[in-house]
Amino acid sequence: MEHYLREREGKQLHDPIRIEKTKNSSSSRCEYVDGPVIVGAGPSGLAAAACLKEKGVPYVVLERSNCIASLWQLKTYDRLRLHLPKQFCELPFLGFPCNFPTYPTKQQFTKYLEDYAKKFDIRPRFNETVAHAEYDSTLGFWRVKSAGLKGETEYVCRCLVVATGENAEPVVPQIEGMEEFGGPIRHTSLYKSGDEYRLKRVLVVGCGNSGMEVCLDLCNHKAKPSIVVRDTVHVLPREMLGKSTFGLSMWLLKWLPMRLVDRFLLIVSWLMLGDTARFGLDRPRLGPLELKNLSGKTPVLDVGTLAKIKSGDIKVFPSIKRLKRHAVEFVNGKIQNFDAIILATGYRSNVPSWLKEGQMFSKKDGFPRKAFPNGWKGEYGLYAVGFTKRGLLGASMDAKKIAEDIERCWKVEAKQKLAFVSSLLPRSLS
Ligand SMILES: Cc1cc2nc3c(=O)[nH]c(=O)nc-3n(C[C@H](O)[C@H](O)[C@H](O)COP(=O)(O)OP(=O)(O)OC[C@H]3O[C@@H](n4cnc5c(N)ncnc54)[C@H](O)[C@@H]3O)c2cc1C
Repeated sequence: MEHYLREREGKQLHDPIRIEKTKNSSSSRCEYVDGPVIVGAGPSGLAAAACLKEKGVPYVVLERSNCIASLWQLKTYDRLRLHLPKQFCELPFLGFPCNFPTYPTKQQFTKYLEDYAKKFDIRPRFNETVAHAEYDSTLGFWRVKSAGLKGETEYVCRCLVVATGENAEPVVPQIEGMEEFGGPIRHTSLYKSGDEYRLKRVLVVGCGNSGMEVCLDLCNHKAKPSIVVRDTVHVLPREMLGKSTFGLSMWLLKWLPMRLVDRFLLIVSWLMLGDTARFGLDRPRLGPLELKNLSGKTPVLDVGTLAKIKSGDIKVFPSIKRLKRHAVEFVNGKIQNFDAIILATGYRSNVPSWLKEGQMFSKKDGFPRKAFPNGWKGEYGLYAVGFTKRGLLGASMDAKKIAEDIERCWKVEAKQKLAFVSSLLPRSLS
């Protein structure tokens, strides 16, 4: 009973009409959400919404930008394709169209997500940036504050699903002499194509999948790219023995231990690509799958960049020591002139900036503290989708588990509500 009184108190306290009456002068409003609030309308948020829809649980999706999948639509380069074959990137309950290629383009992937949202009637509230979310232990509800075009809204809900992604904010490193450098310095989230860099000397900082692919794109647009390779890196062919490297690895892992699969991948890579260390790309001590499993560091799936490095069209440099007006000084003492710098330095989670909670998410990196596959559920109805460092496949797994868990609580609560209402009715009616 106490539980329901608290719930009713919560509802009354945050009833929008009541709030509007008492807060006439302010543009802020309050809304009770019957079901979870999902923060983020990227693939993970959409997957969670679709799974909840299938279970008949209502929800609200809040998205800071003006479209779904803003990372893919607004912050990626034109030539981007899915890095993994489409069958490993499907969201729950909807496959990719048969006429899509194995590696769909970003336009095709966006179309797939738009069709997905349409199929499950997912209508995110756009231009709503969640700035603060905190569990109110007195009320037993989450209070989620978002800033939108029409002012501030506080959503009050039982469950909160964090779907803001592993790539919410670009990482921009501080490099000595940055203010002095005369040319543009841009993060890859702002890079669209090599068109504007024609004949320019461009230094790409970072050798993950994005950095390597941007270099290739620059080559194809007749720019002169160089790449900074600071750490060791595993470069693998995207396909081997007529199969996708990712698919083959998944299949082999069913039968063989990870170390053996790693050894196999490295031998085939050596036969196909040669010794990458000869070109300045030293391999890590751990194998590609073991490293991914332990640190989340993804191997580079080569789509042609290595050939350009071998031919000398792309030059490899070590870490940067400092930038000068028109040049870059490297830690090996070399100084080279450049017209522009592109930072392929990755992204980070933004969860600690808005979620006020100390248990589930690490304040340091904004990821769930519990390792995969246990990071999806926290306390008091808090969930995370898409933080497994396992791409879209991991997000789909999270979404299904979250919807099942929320449905279970939802059914229990519905039963209790019914029993509560029945207890208020006169005996003859109940
Ligand atoms: C270049 C690139 C290529 C990739 N290729 C692949 C691939 O081939 N296969 C694969 O499996 N994975 C790939 N990934 C991994 C990628 O993370 C996933 O594809 C996917 O985008 C993750 O979805 P998400 O919904 O978790 O995060 P996102 O797509 O980042 O979506 C999160 C959403 O949350 C919104 N948001 C963030 N903060 C707030 C806030 N405070 N309030 C409201 N909304 C907020 C953002 O605007 C965004 O729309 C790639 C990533 C990159 C960067």
